[in-house]
Amino acid sequence: MDCVYCKGNISVCITDYTVILKDCVILIKDIPSQKCDLCGETFFSFNVATKLDVIVNHEKVNSNRMTEVVYS
Ligand SMILES: [Zn+2]
Repeated sequence: MDCVYCKGNISVCITDYTVILKDCVILIKDIPSQKCDLCGETFFSFNVATKLDVIVNHEKVNSNRMTEVVYS
């Protein structure tokens, strides 16, 4: 798989993802992802992106300020 931006090589890595919403900040840690060696852009697979959506939607209801979640 090549980077959609620069056609660089993509490696598997673990990353953190921060979502900043109006009333809270959600930090999701240890997410399996792919990162471009050349431009550093991070990509999530469809399954991971879908799960991140679920986590964010769940956490934003239950939190007020800053939440830290470990992806599992
Ligand atoms: Zn790239």
